[in-house]
Amino acid sequence: MRQKTCSACGGKMQSLGNMELQKGKFSMLFGHWDQILSGALDVDVECCERCKKLEFYLLGDAEAPEASGIQQIACPYCGDMHDMDDAVCPHCGRRLMAL
Ligand SMILES: [Zn+2]
Ligand SMILES: [Zn+2]
Repeated sequence: MRQKTCSACGGKMQSLGNMELQKGKFSMLFGHWDQILSGALDVDVECCERCKKLEFYLLGDAEAPEASGIQQIACPYCGDMHDMDDAVCPHCGRRLMAL
C-alpha cells in the first residue's frame, strides 16, 4: 500500500481501512465539497500516529462512466459501448434501431 505522511506534522499515516460515508454526514465535515458529491462516497481513512489527525482520501474514479445516468449498451456493429438512446453509434457512425 501507499505510505502517506501527515500534512500537519509529517508523521506516519496509519490506514483505518475503507468506509462508506453518506453524503449528509460527509458534508458536515467538508461542507464545501457538497456540490461535487452525490450519494455515498467510498473513502480511505487514515490517521496520523503522531498528532491523530484524520485524513480522508476519495476512492474510485470521480468521472464515473454512468455520470450521464443513461444505460450503456454495446453497438451491434462495432461492439463499443454507447448511450442506450443514441440514434447513431458515436464510434462507427451506423444508425441504431431504437426499440
Ligand atoms: Zn500528524
Ligand atoms: Zn458502432
